[in-house]
Amino acid sequence: ATANGPSSRELFTVNSPNVTYTDSEIRSKYTYRTTSVNQTADGKYVATPRETVYDFKVDRKVPKVGAMLVGWGGNNGSTVTAGIIANRRGLTWETREGQRSANYYGSVMMGSTMKLGTDAKTLKDVNIPFHDVLPMVHPNDLVIGGWDMSSLNLAASMDRAAVLEPTLKALVRKEMAEMVPLPSIYYPDFIAANQKDRADNLISGSKACTEHVERIRMDICDFKAANSLDKVIVQWTANTERYAEIIPGVNDTAENLLKAIADGHEEISPSTVFAVACILEGAPFINGSPQNTFVPGAIQLSEQHGTFIGGDDFKSGQTKMKSALVDFLISAGIKPTSIASYNHLGNNDGKNLSSQKQFRSKEISKSNVVDDMVEANSVLYAPGEHPDHIVVIKYMPAVGDSKRALDEYYAEIFMGGHQTISIFNVCEDSLLASPLIIDLVLVTEMMTRIQWKASSAEGKEDFKSFHSVLSILSYMLKAPVTPAGIPVINALAKQRSCLTNIFRACVGLDPESDMTLEHRLA
Ligand code: NAD
Repeated sequence: ATANGPSSRELFTVNSPNVTYTDSEIRSKYTYRTTSVNQTADGKYVATPRETVYDFKVDRKVPKVGAMLVGWGGNNGSTVTAGIIANRRGLTWETREGQRSANYYGSVMMGSTMKLGTDAKTLKDVNIPFHDVLPMVHPNDLVIGGWDMSSLNLAASMDRAAVLEPTLKALVRKEMAEMVPLPSIYYPDFIAANQKDRADNLISGSKACTEHVERIRMDICDFKAANSLDKVIVQWTANTERYAEIIPGVNDTAENLLKAIADGHEEISPSTVFAVACILEGAPFINGSPQNTFVPGAIQLSEQHGTFIGGDDFKSGQTKMKSALVDFLISAGIKPTSIASYNHLGNNDGKNLSSQKQFRSKEISKSNVVDDMVEANSVLYAPGEHPDHIVVIKYMPAVGDSKRALDEYYAEIFMGGHQTISIFNVCEDSLLASPLIIDLVLVTEMMTRIQWKASSAEGKEDFKSFHSVLSILSYMLKAPVTPAGIPVINALAKQRSCLTNIFRACVGLDPESDMTLEHRLA
């Protein structure tokens, strides 16, 4: 385990009149520079640089955090739990390819670095782990728990998932066997009928009700007390549900949603009931599946309570590649005209998605991912023009968790020529999703300790949190939820620089500009 307490882990300090450190806080005065654009009557643009000064405040005390997963006994839930235990204990195990040891590869927070600056003597980049930019929780210190509608303990779940090596499973089996998911709520109409056999660990009642909300709140409180936690973050990694219909008077406002739950309305999904319970309990809630858990009433409720929510749908494999590759192609001035995406997978997620309504949720979340990049390039695309885009998913039991994604990108190049890029992506789905689950918890937790105010307000205003819809999580999510009216960013490079530069601003550092003038002007 890592050392707790302020500053014990901090790798650097910032030497600037705009940054101050106290035992409990880092404060920065940060000048945010933007460009405001107006269009004149003759259609020309006038670009005006603007500056806004913000005060940021970071709580340096790293808390004790619990992560509760809905669908804990699934492939993702059992894999991330075993992975954290293996890392915490520094395990190594034999495979037919040799010895392997626990790591956090695939986690941006734990596996990637950020340029801190330039070495004063050598002018070379100084890079530090992303995790060390702000005083973050270490995943080894997370206490994991949660719910599943299947009663299997986590050791048996890990066997059912068939993801990890037997030698690794043997090392974590004893600890995992003692972990048993809490009973959950199951409204059969929302997930595929083929999931029914698993449902043997249920809270009674098959539609939304206030008692379900209260029970989930109680579970969070009990978990927090039993493990002496400072806070709990909840994540939906349970099966993909069908879309809920948005019905005026039912789920369109916070008030209507609470009333519809109390009335047992049939159109309220289990994931929305979990979201509502977490929002009321002040526990941030993240949706890792594609369905529309965050109906307008749930978003409004999160705004009213100031509880963070984030979603939707982990961006792990095919879509992550797409949001990197299309970003690259369009930024290179190349015009993708069609994207054909096929998947087959053989895990329980694939089985659930073989049902039409649940597949439809996934299809929606996978299909809008290039919109912002297309819209941004008026040289290549006329207004409203889009590449053709098709997504197919098939259930193929034999390949298990090893998902195969075949993508063909067909693009127009110079003088009517064509470029065809074919990608065949094979990977264990749960080994890609698990580090995202960790990043989502770490970043969400960090955001609960960051506050801001406009410097112009001076003494007049109090510090406040970021907007309750945490769009900073977009890098990890396929279909980012944003506050009403705020544009969605899918381009992977932009999503990462948002994460990087907001973290930098909190310690008073300018955005990474990559200009490296110091190398170019001499
Ligand atoms: P899984 O089927 O192995 O696990 C889901 C678990 O949820 C099961 O154990 C099931 O019993 C449980 N469950 C279902 N309904 C529940 C409820 N109402 N309450 C409590 N538990 C419930 O699936 P998985 O591979 O772990 O994926 C989980 C989710 O993450 C899926 O919706 C999937 O689409 C989504 N997702 C996964 C990836 C990825 O693995 N790379 C990427 C994006 C999204």
